[in-house]
Amino acid sequence: MPLLSRMLNAPLSIDVRRGAVAGLGELLADRRIATEGRVAIAVGPGQGDQIAEHVRPSLSACEVFHVDGGTVDAAVSLGSKLRAGSYEAVVGIGGGRTIDATKYAATLSGIPMVSVATNLSHDGICSPVASLTHEKGKGSFGVVMPLAMVVDLDYVRAAPPRLVRAGIGDVVSNFSAVDDWLLAADAVGERVDRMALTVARTAAEALLHQPGTIESDGFLTVLAEGLVLSGMAMAFAGDSRPASGGDHEILHAIDQLYPGTGNHGELAGIGAAFCYHLRATHLGEGAERLEQILHCLERHGLPRLPGDVGLSVEQFTQAVLFAPQTRPGRYTILEHLGLAEDATRKAVEEYVRAHGD
Ligand SMILES: [Zn+2]
Repeated sequence: MPLLSRMLNAPLSIDVRRGAVAGLGELLADRRIATEGRVAIAVGPGQGDQIAEHVRPSLSACEVFHVDGGTVDAAVSLGSKLRAGSYEAVVGIGGGRTIDATKYAATLSGIPMVSVATNLSHDGICSPVASLTHEKGKGSFGVVMPLAMVVDLDYVRAAPPRLVRAGIGDVVSNFSAVDDWLLAADAVGERVDRMALTVARTAAEALLHQPGTIESDGFLTVLAEGLVLSGMAMAFAGDSRPASGGDHEILHAIDQLYPGTGNHGELAGIGAAFCYHLRATHLGEGAERLEQILHCLERHGLPRLPGDVGLSVEQFTQAVLFAPQTRPGRYTILEHLGLAEDATRKAVEEYVRAHGD
């Protein structure tokens, strides 16, 4: 019988629960990730130090390094320290920035990385992509996917709620990314990886229909698992396609043109809603999805309109116009419609009028 299957890269272990950090030493030993205890721990400015102390008893020989933000420089500097110390593995503990820098450093030094997320702000906590800032702005870098993923809900609950909520926007933006992918298949014959698409979309469906809020462990678990599944979908596809479409082009444009407005997940949510507004008004499809996404963002207290993140209609219009340049070669609803400046402004005005309070 022919073996008609495929091999997929996935983490060895995914642990989402309260108290998960306490099992970290055991996990590293059991999974043979670090058999001699030569483990480096990279922590960020948030709760990293506290967690490092928490795991120290189970990782006696570990050494703690501080990561100075999510920059290429910080990641390269950590990478050279990891190389010099001949560690078996590095554990990145923190929010998105610390984990992204650690993933990049682990890739540079050729050792496995374990991701311990302390907030749920975006799907980079378990993806093969690191988003880091450099002299010219922000860039996405291909990295090795984390070998194991730990989300301790006790720490997530202690994180600023805004950072926890933001991940909701990143997961629901999968809908828009996936529809952009299908549009690209139709319009320009791009190949779609249905397995990756299924994983990305199912994560978003599960989150959309989870009735709880970030106050409940049940909801936080679905959110954390949704972010992990988004990361895995990217690993299956070999790039960020299943979780990044016109929605992310808009967010990257806002990041570049108007730095410091909303965070990644917040902007991804607005970008996804706006992309569905374009679909609904120009292609006559996706109106129901638009309502679902807007309702979801509102229910969780996430921004929905440009004004919610301090952007004027004109600024958002300029971001939408600039968006395709942030990801050359990616075909989304934005490239498909190719709206000129006046038509884009009109679409933004319509969106704000239709969904503003
Ligand atoms: Zn994202």
